[in-house]
Amino acid sequence: MKKKILSFLLFFPILTGFSQVSDSMMLRKLFNEALTNQTAYKNLEYLCTRIGGRICGSPQAEKAVQWTKEVLDGMELDRVFLQECNVRHWERGDVEEVIVNPGKKSSIRLNACAIGGSVGTDPEGMTGKVIEVYDFDELKKLGREKIEGKIVFFNHPANPAVYYTFEAYGGVAKYRVYGATEAAKYGAVGVAVRSATLAHEDYPHTGILHYADTIKQIPAMSISTNDADKLSKRLEEEPDLNLFLRVTSSEQPETISYNVIGEIRGAEYPEEVIVFGGHLDAWDNGQGAHDDGAGVVQTIEVLRLFKTLGIKPKRTIRFVAFMDEEMDQRGAKAYALYAKTKNEKRETGNEKPIAAIEADRGGTTPFGFSIDATEGQFDKIRKWKELLLPYGLYTFEKGGSGVDIRDLKPLGTALIALVTDSQRYFDYHHSANDSFDKINQRELQLGSFSIAALVYLIDKYGL
Ligand SMILES: [Zn+2]
Repeated sequence: MKKKILSFLLFFPILTGFSQVSDSMMLRKLFNEALTNQTAYKNLEYLCTRIGGRICGSPQAEKAVQWTKEVLDGMELDRVFLQECNVRHWERGDVEEVIVNPGKKSSIRLNACAIGGSVGTDPEGMTGKVIEVYDFDELKKLGREKIEGKIVFFNHPANPAVYYTFEAYGGVAKYRVYGATEAAKYGAVGVAVRSATLAHEDYPHTGILHYADTIKQIPAMSISTNDADKLSKRLEEEPDLNLFLRVTSSEQPETISYNVIGEIRGAEYPEEVIVFGGHLDAWDNGQGAHDDGAGVVQTIEVLRLFKTLGIKPKRTIRFVAFMDEEMDQRGAKAYALYAKTKNEKRETGNEKPIAAIEADRGGTTPFGFSIDATEGQFDKIRKWKELLLPYGLYTFEKGGSGVDIRDLKPLGTALIALVTDSQRYFDYHHSANDSFDKINQRELQLGSFSIAALVYLIDKYGL
């Protein structure tokens, strides 16, 4: 008996040591393969340049679904399937005009685009006086007396003095999302919103807005940051100037679309599922390279890395390309319902989603992970930090995960986001500037590796 204990004590450190060595060796293999193979980069090139912007309901979104399925079908996975969801079908139309003092010598055309989901103006457009506001408090103070019949210009610059640009974005995106509804409450006839970006440039940035059922729906345009500054200056000189808005966007009947799913079935615990993915839809005014083509191809790459290196997962590893993150998250809802049903019907479906990883913060250099999980799950993940540090992954923080996976939270799933260098992300986000040429191949591939490494460790040790 004593001898047995002694030999266990002697061998235990060696065994754990061995396991760490094999983990670091396997991570090195994953890294070498991820950084030397160009599949993810080529996939992104196709998605961006051959399919392009692919907002839900569009023919491009449909093409993206078919293409993603073909890519997965060619990978000899254990299962590939489409998961149906209804989606909105909003069309931008081909006219997006914002003009200061139309028809006058002092007239200038501003770089503008419709905010996603905006109603159109009358076909001939509309002209109105402008009232500039900094925030919703100011809007409220001005009240109906000052606002009725006017176009509200929300000019709230994003705060450059924050490290995480998502924080700056969060501080201003609300004017794009709720500006039209808040202004309409006081009788405004339209809104022009400063683009939600830290960059000083000429690209207008779009994104979704939310109308309220009981409030009049008014047209909403986004104008570039440079032109927001220009308009503000013009208003100082000439508070009574006219602003012309014309936009031909419209809402079409809902249509059917799909999440695209591919998986490798676990050899030992197939009911335990590790999900990873990004969103397949992207705004129609760009190519959706950083948002979120990058996340999609990086997470397809996780499957390829496992297949190429012959890693047979113990648990089921599943890629999901979510449809419709940008408007209503119908794909995320469809997947969450599927996961919940499978989790409840243990006798037939028998699934437990133990972890979900979303890549939706741009294809720039990854720094680590933001984790929304129990203390136990968080501690376990943080213990792998030493293995991941050599690859620049030092961030293991408690925080938000991703819009497409958050509905899995009630199932006890550990929710994880890939954290990337956010400094340039909002220069591209939701604009024509979000194109394939803004992707750095190495940065993209580092992201593929980072997710694959985490999936490897979660699969090996469970959560
Ligand atoms: Zn996104």
